[in-house]
Amino acid sequence: MTFETLKLMIPGPVQPEDDVLDALGSPVRAHYGPEWVQINAETNAMLAKVFGTQGETFIFPGSGSAGLDACIGSSLSSGEKILIGLNGYFAERLAEIAACYNLDMVAVEAEWGQPLKPQDFADAIRRNPDVKAVAVVHLETSTAVLNPVPEIARIARQAGICMIVDAVSSLGGVPFHMCEWGVDLCASASQKCLGAPPGVSPVAVGDRGWEFIERNPNRGHGWYLNLLIWRKFAHEWAHFHPFPTTQATNNVVALKTSLENLLREGMENRFKRFERIAARFRNELDRIGYRLFTPPELSAPVLTAVWGPPGVPTSQIVTYLADKHGLKISGGFGAPMVDKIIRIGHMSPGIKEEDVDQVAAALEAFLFEKTQATDREPFGA
Ligand SMILES: *Cc1c(COP(=O)(O)O)cnc(C)c1O
Repeated sequence: MTFETLKLMIPGPVQPEDDVLDALGSPVRAHYGPEWVQINAETNAMLAKVFGTQGETFIFPGSGSAGLDACIGSSLSSGEKILIGLNGYFAERLAEIAACYNLDMVAVEAEWGQPLKPQDFADAIRRNPDVKAVAVVHLETSTAVLNPVPEIARIARQAGICMIVDAVSSLGGVPFHMCEWGVDLCASASQKCLGAPPGVSPVAVGDRGWEFIERNPNRGHGWYLNLLIWRKFAHEWAHFHPFPTTQATNNVVALKTSLENLLREGMENRFKRFERIAARFRNELDRIGYRLFTPPELSAPVLTAVWGPPGVPTSQIVTYLADKHGLKISGGFGAPMVDKIIRIGHMSPGIKEEDVDQVAAALEAFLFEKTQATDREPFGA
């Protein structure tokens, strides 16, 4: 059997809903003038709701990493100290971005598969009184662990430190309250829970975020991902062209359509639907004998990480599901996870019970066809 396109059950990109793809394929618009200014404003207003901020939002043409680069590079200068919570691959990405800006990184580590501990941040701040910012990943996509952002943000706020969050794989899929939690700068991406194709990175900046950016003595950050440049155009060219470059207009109208769908369903309803589907999927995995790598209480209901059967490199499961069932799932990502776990994304706005049932059935078929497992005892590490 061959499959022309695999059904995406990975943690991004997700398969967008049909009306989102229609919007992507709509005629190209000019990225300036009254019509576009209005589309841009409406999209940003919806993004602000989803971020939970009264601050400003921006839509960078680029992937999620563009937004993360903009947040870190705009608020910190070479040589300044940043605390980074390290417990997975995407946390390491933050550390790499920081290294590329010659920042002095202090790592606050937790084991891969475990959440970061807020107390460790308080301790690290006490030992490093000159630290300027804290950066953490909300949903660590490599392990499916949801980090305690509200608790860490409270500590950063009390210490007067800038709080930067990577919400690339969580925004739109789990509650996020930037203002209430005290997050100053936050970046996401169009292609995960936000349900649009890859191509744009929404970024939100709160009032204190601007204070940190204005304080930043670094003027060598560059132009394209510089939030000061983006703010300048958003204000000075507000009625004509409120960003410095050509916008990825079709990606923006696709994102706008997906945000309309999210707000029409209601964020609470969307989150509850994701929870229901995650619970169903995880129960089914348990029933057929797979063991979760990340327990549901440490995870988010948009992504499930599962151990492979003993002695079976999990890349074999990924290949089997693609070749025999037309399903694209992910293996372990980041050196400690390779061939140990599989990860199934159920973060598409269009996700249905049938979709996770289909993955569970394929995973059960893998057990029957590829392993000698005769009993139905759960297996694990
Ligand atoms: C996917 C992902 C990224 C990287 O996003 P790109 O769009 O590939 O740049 C960063 N952080 C997290 C948590 C992610 O899941």
